Amino acid sequence: MPDPLVLDGKIWVESEVGSGSSFIFDLDLKEVESSLADKSSEEKPLSVDYSKSLDGSTILLAEDNQINQEIILGLLEKSGIKVDVANNGQEAVAMFRENSYDLILMDIQMPIIDGYEATKIVRETDRDIPIIALTANAMKKDVEKTKKAGMNEHLNKPVDVKKLYEALFQYIFQKSSINTKLGLSHLGGNEKLYVKILCELYDNYKDLKLENLDDKSLKIELHTIKGLSGNIGATYLQEIAKELETTLDRELFSDFYKELNRVLDEVKKKLSSSRSRENGSNRQVLDDKKRDEFLGKLKEFALKRRQKQCNMILDEIGEYTLNKSDEELFSKINGLIQNRKYKEIMEQF
Ligand code: MN
Repeated sequence: MPDPLVLDGKIWVESEVGSGSSFIFDLDLKEVESSLADKSSEEKPLSVDYSKSLDGSTILLAEDNQINQEIILGLLEKSGIKVDVANNGQEAVAMFRENSYDLILMDIQMPIIDGYEATKIVRETDRDIPIIALTANAMKKDVEKTKKAGMNEHLNKPVDVKKLYEALFQYIFQKSSINTKLGLSHLGGNEKLYVKILCELYDNYKDLKLENLDDKSLKIELHTIKGLSGNIGATYLQEIAKELETTLDRELFSDFYKELNRVLDEVKKKLSSSRSRENGSNRQVLDDKKRDEFLGKLKEFALKRRQKQCNMILDEIGEYTLNKSDEELFSKINGLIQNRKYKEIMEQF
């Protein structure tokens, strides 16, 4: 495993058949020196802690170079992510077929079947699984080629640890900025209250300016935002607000605003759809047949540990009016899915 000190820099290996290997090091030496001077600081390579939310995910790493494999494994070591390694495209396709992954990290240049080809094969049966290309020469045409093959995103080698975590977070966990189910469960399922809080959040924060606040007011403001975003299920915003509240590191402002704007956009959409629903007010009652159909799908995806698909079904169920016992059942299943307790979900059927 690589020394944790390299986590703030970049390290990579490129090899071409018949021409040996070149090693790329791009280490921030200042970072290394200060870490050496102050051992306690080396635990914090990331500005925001994504790892909690990624804990328990499973990803497939397709990479033919053993050193690169070890680097990625090292970077993800503390995250709790389970990483399976395929040594070439063919292995990757075989492992994808046999297992269920939340995401695939796909090297482009690999023997037998390359990353483009492997992606095309995966996409024949699964259009949803996020595939992130690992590209050595990220020329515009290469990036276009990854998109054309069906990859969602690309990361340049040498892989930047922050970008890696951001991409994993975005594609595995954060299908949207707001986890409505989680928010509602914090409020005991009270939809009216939820909508009221969304309204308040929107009105209070659409013109937020943190720059001019002194440290004390900034802390108070962030404390409130942290609580509010937690309540509505805006987990990532809550995470950034928490980090800002503790560190008062103003360099995090841009991350904060970026996420705040995503949340506000989503709040706006939610509010307008909840209004149109109220006006129409003829939500369908979930009948037994439809309920069993939903349960069947949930079971199928829970077995495959597909959180994203489970959430999509839960969203669909949310469009119906449920009777008391169904409401309890689905809210329990929802809690288990958000905590990735898939085995316990099976006991619900
Ligand atoms: Mn390769």
